[in-house]
Formats: sequence, structure tokens, C-alpha cells
Amino acid sequence: MSDAAEKSVENLGYHAHIYYDPAKTRSVAERVCAAVGDKFRVEIDGFRDGPVGPHPIANVLVIFKPAEFERVVSYLMLNREGLDVLVHPLTEDAVKDHSSFAIWLGNPIPLRLNTLPRGRGGRLPSGVTP
Ligand code: ZN
Repeated sequence: MSDAAEKSVENLGYHAHIYYDPAKTRSVAERVCAAVGDKFRVEIDGFRDGPVGPHPIANVLVIFKPAEFERVVSYLMLNREGLDVLVHPLTEDAVKDHSSFAIWLGNPIPLRLNTLPRGRGGRLPSGVTP
């Protein structure tokens, strides 16, 4: 095994950003988000009706611990109701978290990666400390 393969990335949780159009699909995002909040151990960080940080359009942020990944992501794959969703980890490199480490459900949206630090960025799940 090479050194590169042995080196692991410490991930402390995930964000799912559910993108929506404030004029057209906010209620859809509210419905999807409410269902995820009811079914799984997640934190809903709130609806942002405009651009924020690397996100060029409105989105609602769902935060969860690694143990919930399989349940949350498999649910969103089947129940995102046409909304585009970014799922990214929370490692020590926020730029990679939002690019090479990220997965998309639906269509990828170009992100403003220049707004992100080459370090930890974004809210961690409650009770998790670096
Ligand atoms: Zn995020």
C-alpha cells in the first residue's frame, strides 16, 4: 500500500444544501426539508433566499453526522422532488469539500469556490468539535 492510500481524511460530518427558487420552489424545499427533519437525526440550519458564501442561489442547509449519511442521502436521492442537492463533507479543506469531495443529486450548480477557506469552513453538527 502506498503512503497516499494510507493517508485518510478526517471528516466530521456532512452538509446537504437543497437549492430552490424563492419564487417557485420554496414550498417544495420546505416539504422535502420537513420530511428529512422528521425521519432522520439532522439539523436544519435555515432557508437562505439569496446567494450566500459559495452558493450562488437560494438554498436550505441540512447538517448531519457521518453515521446518518447512508439514510439521509439515500432518502434524498429518491425524494428530492426535482430539486438539485449538493452533499459535501466537512474536512480540513472547504474548497475540496465543495468540489472534488462533493456529490450532486440532480444538476450541479457552479459554486463560487473563491469564497471558501483552505481549511475548515461551515457549521459542524452540534456536539462535534475539530
Ligand atoms: Zn455547506
